[in-house]
Amino acid sequence: MSEIADRINNIFDNISSASQRVGRQVQEITTVIVTKTAPVESIKEVIRLGHTNLGENRVQHLKQVSAEIEEFLEAEKDNPEIPDSVNWHMIGHLQRNKVRQVLKRSSFVHSVDTLRLAEEISENARKLDIVPRVLLQVNCSEEPQKYGVPVGAAIHLAEQITTMDNIKLVGLMTMAPLALNKDIVRASFVRAREIFEDIKKEGLAGKSFKHLSMGMSQDYEIAVEEGATILRIGSAVFAENKITRRI
Ligand SMILES: *Cc1c(COP(=O)(O)O)cnc(C)c1O
Repeated sequence: MSEIADRINNIFDNISSASQRVGRQVQEITTVIVTKTAPVESIKEVIRLGHTNLGENRVQHLKQVSAEIEEFLEAEKDNPEIPDSVNWHMIGHLQRNKVRQVLKRSSFVHSVDTLRLAEEISENARKLDIVPRVLLQVNCSEEPQKYGVPVGAAIHLAEQITTMDNIKLVGLMTMAPLALNKDIVRASFVRAREIFEDIKKEGLAGKSFKHLSMGMSQDYEIAVEEGATILRIGSAVFAENKITRRI
C-alpha cells in the first residue's frame, strides 16, 4: 500500500472512531483532501484511491492543478478504476477580482465572508448561468483572525446572502484558532455549531443549508465530535511527521 493510502486509511479510522464516540454516522461526513503544495503525482494517487473532493486555498494554484487533473481524468477516461470527475472546493481567502476564475473551476466556495464578495459571486454566477454553493466563513476564535465574518454579524450576513440570485448558501465554515489547547479549539467549533443551528432553526436558508465545514489535520477528530459535516485535511495526507498533536 502507498504511504498516502496508509495515511488516508488511518485518518478514516480516526474519523470513524470519533463518530462512534458521539453516535454519528460516518456517511454524514465528507472529507475534502486539501492539495495545496502536494505534488501532482500525489494528488493523482488520492484520486486513484477514490477521493473526489479536493480543496485549494489559492486561486493561482487551483487553476494550475485543476487543469492538470482535468488532463489526467481525460487521459484515464476509459479506466474504470479512476473516477470520472472531481469536485474542487475553494477554501482560502478570495479576492473579488478572482471570483470569475474560481467559479469556473470549483463547485463549492467555503470562504465567503463579506457582503461585497457574496454580491460579486452572485453577479458573476448570473453571467455564467450557474448557481455556486457557498459557505459563510465565520471567525469563531477569540484570537483576531484576518478572515471570517465576526460571530455577531454572521446571521445577518447569512440572511442577506439568501436573498441573492445565483448563489446557494449551503453552510458555515470556520477555522480553529492556532492554539495547541484542545479546549480552545473545541470552544470555537461549538460556537460555529451554535450559529449553524440558529440559522437552520430560523429556516433562513432552506433545506440545502446543511454543511458545517470545520476540522483540519490537527483537529478533525474534535470537529467530528462537535458536528462537522465537511473536514478539510491536507498535511495529514501528504506530509509525514508534520503533525503536531493537540494536547
Ligand atoms: C491548508 C488549509 C486546510 C488544511 O490544513 P492541514 O492542516 O494541512 O490539514 C484546511 N482549511 C484551510 C482553509 C486551509 O487553508
